Amino acid sequence: MKRLVGPVAIAILLLANLLVARQAIAHKWGNWHWNRYGSSVTIRVYNTARYWTEANRAVRDWDNNTILYLPDPGTHTDISLFDGNYGATGWGGLAEIINYTSGSHITHGHARLNYYYSYSSTGKQGVFCQEVGHLFGLDHSNDGCMGMGYYNNIYYTVPHNWNDIYNMYRYSHH
Ligand SMILES: [Zn+2]
Ligand SMILES: [Zn+2]
Ligand SMILES: [Zn+2]
Repeated sequence: MKRLVGPVAIAILLLANLLVARQAIAHKWGNWHWNRYGSSVTIRVYNTARYWTEANRAVRDWDNNTILYLPDPGTHTDISLFDGNYGATGWGGLAEIINYTSGSHITHGHARLNYYYSYSSTGKQGVFCQEVGHLFGLDHSNDGCMGMGYYNNIYYTVPHNWNDIYNMYRYSHH
């Protein structure tokens, strides 16, 4: 496995309770995306989290509302979800691209919740919602869980997020 260094190591940090005002720009995280497209796009998501229920709610939210199909194969695969008490890291959630191929094509990613920071159950769901969203290629935006901690405290996806996914994956993987 390869760990990203350099600019990509920005790894989109969700800073616990630190509201970082950022200008709303494109809602894509750089040019990161999966090399897949169509009316139903499968990305396998392995839920290993202790807060399994919250993580699962987040994944089902994306699965139910977007063209993404997100089965859990029960094995380390496209995306894996983790959580832990990682201490005072400054981030409550972390998305990491572990492997990729040329063309900014994500082939493996990890999403983490740091429960050192005390989130409510819905808050934990919101962190997973946002970190998984990053691994689909989305940046922060001012709506739904992609804005949690930055623009709002919404813990679930909203039509804006669904449209961002649709626009990325329906007709082209770019
Ligand atoms: Zn984030
Ligand atoms: Zn591509
Ligand atoms: Zn892995």
